[in-house]
Amino acid sequence: MHTKKILISGAGIAGLALARQFRKLNIPFDIIEKRSHLTSDGAGIALPANAVKALRYIGFGKHIEQNAHQVNKIIYADSAGMVLSEASLLESPLNADRFVALHRHEFHKILCSGLEADIRFNTSINQIIQTSNGVLVTFNDHDHSQEEFGAVIGADGVNSRVRQLAFSDSELTDLGVTIWRWTCRYPTDDLQPTYMLEAKKLFMAYPIGKNEVYCYAHTFDPENLCSRSTDHKAMLAREFGQYGGIAKIMLEILPENEFIIPGRLRSVAQPLFVSGRAALVGDAGHACSPMLQQGAACALEDVITLSELLKQFSIDEALLHYEKFRSERVNWITASSDGPMKMIINTDASVLSVIQEKMRENGPLNVQGWRKLLATDPLAELSAYIGKNRI
Ligand SMILES: Cc1cc2nc3c(=O)[nH]c(=O)nc-3n(C[C@H](O)[C@H](O)[C@H](O)COP(=O)(O)OP(=O)(O)OC[C@H]3O[C@@H](n4cnc5c(N)ncnc54)[C@H](O)[C@@H]3O)c2cc1C
Repeated sequence: MHTKKILISGAGIAGLALARQFRKLNIPFDIIEKRSHLTSDGAGIALPANAVKALRYIGFGKHIEQNAHQVNKIIYADSAGMVLSEASLLESPLNADRFVALHRHEFHKILCSGLEADIRFNTSINQIIQTSNGVLVTFNDHDHSQEEFGAVIGADGVNSRVRQLAFSDSELTDLGVTIWRWTCRYPTDDLQPTYMLEAKKLFMAYPIGKNEVYCYAHTFDPENLCSRSTDHKAMLAREFGQYGGIAKIMLEILPENEFIIPGRLRSVAQPLFVSGRAALVGDAGHACSPMLQQGAACALEDVITLSELLKQFSIDEALLHYEKFRSERVNWITASSDGPMKMIINTDASVLSVIQEKMRENGPLNVQGWRKLLATDPLAELSAYIGKNRI
């Protein structure tokens, strides 16, 4: 049993899930969040089957069943709306669990229920000093208060403070892509997730509720020129005005600018896990492009792995096992998310037609990745790994 508390920095998807696992496993912890209250950026979130499996493991199965929208098919089309490729999500190995989606606010509400009182808001870390059997943390409060913890877990997202303070190589890579996200009301009875691929551009419409659609649009913009305008409606009309199909319909019912969330795609250059008694979970350690929509799944698998290892081993052993167990899968996910993104984002029409041809033969890009991912079950493998290493 660990006597010193473990500090979780960040109350996003990874931090909230980790706090819940620690509570379930009786591992003492504190959780801090730099914002003044819980909030979520972004519009919708798509959760592939391995994310849903991990959520069930943590204890959210019922909430997901009740609040998320199931999708059954993935469609890739060209910018006119002509279908290039489609795949059912109800076939093996994709049917390992449901593919669902919901509004991010709803997802955060589920993750934080019962935890809000435990979170120290308006708090972040100023300094981390590794000691002989823990970590001395200085906080950002008036007194610069200090406390020693058994370990610090950075669950503080792509701009992780823990990564910056405890890891020497904490670089981010800008993928050269400007994005916009929003949700809108639209009947979803006949809508399945649809990705419309054009040279240097992608538009996605993803149903997240009975009458609610999550839209994502990106364009290759290495100089970040799009950030010069805050008129997102005008930018979207300029970039995607030539699109047909569902994109055209979505552009006709765009919400006001304040409800459209702009952003850039950035990745952690090289996945990072452990440095002394500091560890990273979720985007803090391995943010990557959303090509495979593995952000939540990967964060939740990190969280389950780390918490179960901490339950069974000393902190030092658990952290070593965490890196060893997670590296291969996380490296594969980040490479398979950023690789195809880099390939499709800067293509001319001739390369695009080769990619489209390949997609006709092999199926939608993301489904190809999910087939490989869902052929194995890291949660079952974890239990075997712990059994083998506890001897
Ligand atoms: C455009 C886009 C679309 C995406 N779509 C999907 C998708 O459909 N499905 C999917 O699974 N994933 C998707 N992702 C990825 C997903 O959003 C992330 O992987 C996920 O949010 C990571 O969760 P996290 O808890 O690690 O980080 P975050 O959600 O970023 O949470 C970090 C938390 O830490 C807090 N924090 C930050 N700094 C500090 C600090 N110094 N001290 C204390 N607290 C701090 C933040 O306020 C926040 O609450 C997408 C990402 C992008 C960019």
